[in-house]
Amino acid sequence: MVMGSLPEAVDIAVIGGGVGGYFAAIHAAQLGKSVALIEKEKLGGHCLNYACIPSKTMIKVADMFYEIQHAQNFGIHAGNVSINGSELYNWRMNASKKLEDGVAFLCKSNGVEVVKGTAVFMSSTSLQIGGGSSIDFKKAIIATGSEPTVLKGFEFGGNIIDYKKALMLDHIPKSMAIIGAGYVSVEIGTLYAKFGTKVSIVARSDVLSKFDRDAVELVKKKMAELGVKIYTGATPASHDASSVTLSSGEKIDAELIVVAVGLSPFTDGLEIGSTEAKLDDRGFIKVDNALRTTDPNILAIGDVIGEPMLAHKAMRQGIVAAEVAAGQNASYDNLVVPAVIFSDPEIAIAGTLEGEGIKVTKFPLTALGRAIALNATNGFVKIAADVDNIVKGVEIVSDDAGDIIAEAVVAIEMGATLEDIADSIHPHPTYSEALQEAAEAALGRSIHYFYGK
Ligand SMILES: Cc1cc2nc3c(=O)[nH]c(=O)nc-3n(C[C@H](O)[C@H](O)[C@H](O)COP(=O)(O)OP(=O)(O)OC[C@H]3O[C@@H](n4cnc5c(N)ncnc54)[C@H](O)[C@@H]3O)c2cc1C
Repeated sequence: MVMGSLPEAVDIAVIGGGVGGYFAAIHAAQLGKSVALIEKEKLGGHCLNYACIPSKTMIKVADMFYEIQHAQNFGIHAGNVSINGSELYNWRMNASKKLEDGVAFLCKSNGVEVVKGTAVFMSSTSLQIGGGSSIDFKKAIIATGSEPTVLKGFEFGGNIIDYKKALMLDHIPKSMAIIGAGYVSVEIGTLYAKFGTKVSIVARSDVLSKFDRDAVELVKKKMAELGVKIYTGATPASHDASSVTLSSGEKIDAELIVVAVGLSPFTDGLEIGSTEAKLDDRGFIKVDNALRTTDPNILAIGDVIGEPMLAHKAMRQGIVAAEVAAGQNASYDNLVVPAVIFSDPEIAIAGTLEGEGIKVTKFPLTALGRAIALNATNGFVKIAADVDNIVKGVEIVSDDAGDIIAEAVVAIEMGATLEDIADSIHPHPTYSEALQEAAEAALGRSIHYFYGK
């Protein structure tokens, strides 16, 4: 089925209306091209409807719920605080709907033709939509994203759910076992634990195994405080309606079992074989640094082309792909893709902390005025610079880390030095000062922390 008017031919057809796709479509229209944006489900894709926005909305609500109950030190005695799952569900769904409507409005305002339906390639110059009409294009941009990876023996259905369903519950479950231990598991596990759910995480090795252990240990400490039980080096063997049993024989209570073992590129039903575009051996679409596939008419962006599978990467690639498809000389050559884990405390990373000649300096939040005043000293900033003091990487473990890391991204992209950060006036009292303090410490002139003589 196709909804919306279907043009017969366009300059650029964008397949998938997620963050990558709608950025590409709007920017291509800004460049004067006729554009169709084809989306089979909801504009905004996973990020706005099922992933980034819903998870961060629910994390914020869970933080408020938890903080109100633990605010006696500040003189707040809230009494009996309760959470209504169905009202939270309504808030979370409305937030996504507002954003989805906003994307529709922006597409319309910029002259992008939004077509509702599933796009299938018929050739390198045409698509069939919803099994009916076809549309010819000069260039196509594939932005079909990803889907939750299926775990053998724990296929989705019944009480086994994916991240989308876990972020769409209309009640707070009594118990939840999460299989998988990446950032999605940590975020979902922490938020439900704050609502009072008994959360268990089943980790093949450990939680956040690819991240800096200094940072992860602080997150694990908080998760332990919240009652989250992490089963490390564990393999789930079987399940029933209320539990998961590990290969060790241990049985875990689980009203719900969330399988979060990764994201797989989504190209199902797209008939890529009708074009010259090719997939790699993991199913990602192969592209060059200008995001061109092996088909001269077709580009691809976002989760469907590989790691890092992050919304802001897809957005940037959407802009670049639109420019390339419009005939401009552009390429995807950003130095840094920041990563943020919205854990407690947040972990945010930009660039690298490792490499020859790189020196890392750590500034603890126990020495930061704002953190001390708000009882939020569980964190630090690490800054890495080369022998010429050029900043190469920053890691922030702190409240608002996800916001502050943007400064580090700009610094690294611009080749800023430690002095650039240390000598720029940062607003006081804020967490951003911790980044400035780290730069000062790296230059041997720390004011608020005594590193010894
Ligand atoms: C729980 C969770 C939390 C996350 N939080 C964050 C975060 O905080 N920050 C961050 O940066 N990233 C986050 N991510 C990752 C982020 O969601 C993805 O990187 C991002 O959504 C990828 O965007 P995309 O445009 O590539 O694809 P998607 O958002 O997946 O959009 C693809 C769209 O294509 C459509 N589509 C597919 N095939 C067709 C077809 N044949 N025809 C028409 N339409 C089609 C789909 O319906 C979908 O709407 C999170 C992921 C998860 C799972």
